[in-house]
Amino acid sequence: MPTKTILITGSNRGIGTGITQLLASTSHTPSLNILATSRSGIHLAIQPSHNSTIHYAKLDISSRASIAAFLHSHPARIDVLINNAGVNNNIGETPDSAAHTVKVNYCGTRDLCSALLERGGLWRVVNVSSAACQLSNYAPRVQEKFRNARSVADVDRLADSYIGAVCRGKQEELGWGKGVMSYQVSKALVNALTAVLAQQNPDVLVNCCCPGWVDTHMGGLVGGKPPKTVEEGARIPVRLAVGELGRGGDGDGGLGREETERV
Ligand code: NDP
Repeated sequence: MPTKTILITGSNRGIGTGITQLLASTSHTPSLNILATSRSGIHLAIQPSHNSTIHYAKLDISSRASIAAFLHSHPARIDVLINNAGVNNNIGETPDSAAHTVKVNYCGTRDLCSALLERGGLWRVVNVSSAACQLSNYAPRVQEKFRNARSVADVDRLADSYIGAVCRGKQEELGWGKGVMSYQVSKALVNALTAVLAQQNPDVLVNCCCPGWVDTHMGGLVGGKPPKTVEEGARIPVRLAVGELGRGGDGDGGLGREETERV
């Protein structure tokens, strides 16, 4: 079975490092070519298992130029995309920092997904989201818009409408919930994007998941000690990315669509 190439964003720290480590340390069938990307392109002190290789590259998901440069220098097929990179600017949030959160978490995820789906060859996408973004936070009319999103343009409109509300200081009045901040909204947008992409690309297994409350820089922002280690936080994204990868041999590469859990 040919080697599968798997791309991870934000691999330089936190859950992204946990994902890279977990993928690299386990033997897989087929073997894995891990593309560990980050804004700095930094190398990790990870020794891959006998049938994995790791390559490091620079990738800033908030920059279309960076995405284009990355794809240009990696023209070979990418089978699996794990969108892990993210920011949380909830503390001391301003309209600018809220817009930045949406730009990285939603727009960056969208742009990388679009570029790789357009290029073709993708089998799986895992978007690392958060359980902190329940739609029940919002007024029924906003919930309805999320549920009725059928295209990326629909999700873009929701993002624009949220940023517009933030700029006018009218989030609550316009149905975006009391005390709900940009991080939660950005992840609700990622979930809506995931549903749209899954519908539009029936041959690609597109999932999102929450890793749980994990002991990272971001996990520490809410106060208290997160119960999960980065290795534990990596498990669900890794299972969605490569679980069942070796099954089958029936021409679909053993993706095991039905068996793979949708979180
Ligand atoms: P960290 O803050 O520890 O790490 C965030 C990672 O995202 C860093 O590698 C950071 O790189 C990278 N990143 C930020 N902006 C960009 C960008 N523009 N382009 C590429 N990479 C970028 O967070 P976690 O590891 O905790 O979070 C990873 C994912 O898990 C996030 O999507 C987060 O929302 C999600 N999550 C985390 C939870 C937790 O409890 N920790 C709970 C639920 C979800 P750099 O070092 O360059 O800033």
